[in-house]
Amino acid sequence: MAEERTLSILKPDATRRGLTGTINAQFEEAGLRIIAQKRLRLTLKQAQGFYAVHAERAFYDDLCAYMTSGPVVVQVLEGEDAIAKNREIMGATNPKNAAEGTIRAKHGESVEANSVHGSDAPETAAFEIAYFFSAIELVG
Ligand code: GDP
Repeated sequence: MAEERTLSILKPDATRRGLTGTINAQFEEAGLRIIAQKRLRLTLKQAQGFYAVHAERAFYDDLCAYMTSGPVVVQVLEGEDAIAKNREIMGATNPKNAAEGTIRAKHGESVEANSVHGSDAPETAAFEIAYFFSAIELVG
């Protein structure tokens, strides 16, 4: 297994309920290191650009509106097998289907307001990290 970096977002439902510390404790306890982090209020254009791969999906407009409905925390997680490990800790997209103990099972409100985002592959991780961070902001 290789050292990897992945983009994580704590979504508006998580910031609204004051869950940023609770959720990040779960990542850190699993051995993922937070090597970059910032709190942002995304514009609609920024959300649309980030989710451009979903532009044809029926839920795209709702998703972009939701992601701009409150602050988010964007961050980079680093560790062994970080991309898959992050997604395992997050759980399935729909909190109703997420395995017990995962972040989405514990905190997700709906299939849309599911508390966290995580890159799904090395190529998307590279695009998503560069979307929010420059190289000098990644402090491993
Ligand atoms: P992820 O990789 O598990 O985040 O899932 P996807 O890449 O398939 O979807 C991206 C995000 O779009 C999800 O995390 C949800 O916030 C949202 N989403 C996915 N499916 C649906 C849906 O059926 N309805 C709505 N409203 N949002 C959805």
